[in-house]
Amino acid sequence: MSTSEGKQTRAFRQLLDLMIHSLYSNKEIFLRELISNASDAADKLRFEAIANESLYEGDSQIGIRITFDKEANTLTISDNGIGMTLDEVTTNIGTIAKSGTKEFLQSLKADQAKDANLIGQFGVGFYSAFIVADRVTLLTRKAGVSSAEGVRWESAGDGEYTLESITKENHGTDVILHLKAEEKDFLDDWRLRSTIRKFSDHVSWPILMLQSAGYTPEEDEEEAAADSEEKAQEKTEKQPEWETVNKASALWTRSKSEISEEEYTEFYKHVGHDFEDPLAHIHARLEGKYEYTVLLYVPKRAPFDLWDRDRKHGVKLYVRRVFIMEGAEDLMPRYLRFIRGVVDSTDLPLNVSREILQKNPAVDAIKKGMVGKVFSLLEDLAKNDAEKYQQFWDTFGVVMKEGVIEDFAHKDRLAKLLRFSSTHADSKVQDVSLEAYVSRMKEKQKAIYYVNGESLEAARHHPHLEIFRKKGIEVLLLTDRVDEWLVNHLHEFDGKPMHSVAKGGLDLGELEDEADKKELEKYQGEFKELTERVQKGLGELVKEVRVTNRLTDSPSCLVSGEHELSASMERILREAGQQTPNTKRTLEINPAHPLVARLKAESNEQRFDDLSHILFSQALLSEGGQLEDPADFVRRLNGLLLAG
Ligand code: ADP
Repeated sequence: MSTSEGKQTRAFRQLLDLMIHSLYSNKEIFLRELISNASDAADKLRFEAIANESLYEGDSQIGIRITFDKEANTLTISDNGIGMTLDEVTTNIGTIAKSGTKEFLQSLKADQAKDANLIGQFGVGFYSAFIVADRVTLLTRKAGVSSAEGVRWESAGDGEYTLESITKENHGTDVILHLKAEEKDFLDDWRLRSTIRKFSDHVSWPILMLQSAGYTPEEDEEEAAADSEEKAQEKTEKQPEWETVNKASALWTRSKSEISEEEYTEFYKHVGHDFEDPLAHIHARLEGKYEYTVLLYVPKRAPFDLWDRDRKHGVKLYVRRVFIMEGAEDLMPRYLRFIRGVVDSTDLPLNVSREILQKNPAVDAIKKGMVGKVFSLLEDLAKNDAEKYQQFWDTFGVVMKEGVIEDFAHKDRLAKLLRFSSTHADSKVQDVSLEAYVSRMKEKQKAIYYVNGESLEAARHHPHLEIFRKKGIEVLLLTDRVDEWLVNHLHEFDGKPMHSVAKGGLDLGELEDEADKKELEKYQGEFKELTERVQKGLGELVKEVRVTNRLTDSPSCLVSGEHELSASMERILREAGQQTPNTKRTLEINPAHPLVARLKAESNEQRFDDLSHILFSQALLSEGGQLEDPADFVRRLNGLLLAG
């Protein structure tokens, strides 16, 4: 059996080449990846065996064995974990149709250096074997099925593979790497041991290697001498003993002071399926009504499945050091789905299922505790390491914003963590906190002002901002889609209401001096006739036409009602195929603008009508909207240009 299409094969080759290329200076990580897989398989077996002990098949001493054969030029990683059925081998190992891989290939930009950087985001775990091997054989059998149901999979890493049924006495998986000629260095006891200690020390299962050839434990010899002849005979014939190379204790159960930064980092790469160091971590033991330990990490980069509805990675739940499940939504709210790590509880039953999770009161407490810890970690970063916090926000800010909508209980804490672009220093990144905004508010300013825009440029040049610039009032520039929802849920901060610059009548409160108000009133009187005439001409297009005090440079703008959907929100909904009320908005015209003066003086009916429509269309265009009838706009514009 082999994979079908040449196209798939090519894509596959491309992926592997990239991986090999990008990980070349860090080749040993293949061992970490394969050991991580073996460790996960062991976790799964132990979990399933809670309900069905026969799955151990009499062998409950779980371990991961690393052996090598210099003559055959092979390195083997064996586990007696859960194993795989033929179907599982085909879907898990045999195809590249895994969503991550597909997305990876789609995001390739044909820029080797950049592409190589992407690798880490895509769990290419098993295939890292091909960094050092030119052929990989995998022998596996699922725990609990007959020994005749073993599977042999083999591939030379070219997208083709063979599959056959075999008999395999022990359950679990052996991954046999046929090393490339130039990678024979790995067939070295010392090198393997140091690599395991470096990358996999914290794996909680024993990683076993045979006693090295040069090793002759003295006690054994003494014992042998004292033993009966028969026993001594047995000893000399006996295979060399296995010894545990790693610490084989769950890292999170050790005390913080005993764990080095490197150990924390390596553990992250193991649980987070990431090639990169984490951005930050928090390790804490919580005691009280419920007892549990958390070791949580914030990744540096967004995992590829951040937007994937059925992502499988997340926080791993352990009960008294037994792995139970990963990525349960009951343990971490959706907006913190990028958090990786473990939580180990003493209070949950071992046979916990997703259904039980939903009902158990301890789970709620644990979830609250974990969210609290994540907040502490982020607050600490925001306070003490602005650069790291910025890096965090650039990567996950848009996800965190979902929290304002989803997590009412943490709204206030979350609001302090939010960052936005703003007109202050015209920041290109989202680095303005609401606290900073409030601290810069003008003495008599009452509200926190914001504008929504499709892009930073569009928001920055929004005509509604003109008066704010003139008055020196800062405006937040909201350009993420989720911001539309965010402002619907975050009505105020620190007692200051959030106010869209594009909604309602503009009330700058005390900031408007008497002269401003007088001027507006004067204009309202002077332009009454004109605004009525324009309104009549535009008919159904607008709700109202009035003179404005918002604009300095532009001739016109559109304003939504205080409680209506914003224009940008309407656009988003429409694009998503939803029905929108198609709200009519108010056209405001700038009495001080020469075009408006020209309109006022226009005596030709046709030209008046054209210019009114153009003022309306311009207002729509300049806030990023779309004209319903662009040809009509062009025709009217050309008419005027020619007349002029
Ligand atoms: P990931 O570990 O990120 O899921 P891999 O490519 O490393 O990606 O592995 C794909 C899948 O193959 C794993 O999720 C697991 O289901 C299965 N697998 C890999 N190695 C083993 C193993 N030693 N025992 C059982 N299943 C395994």
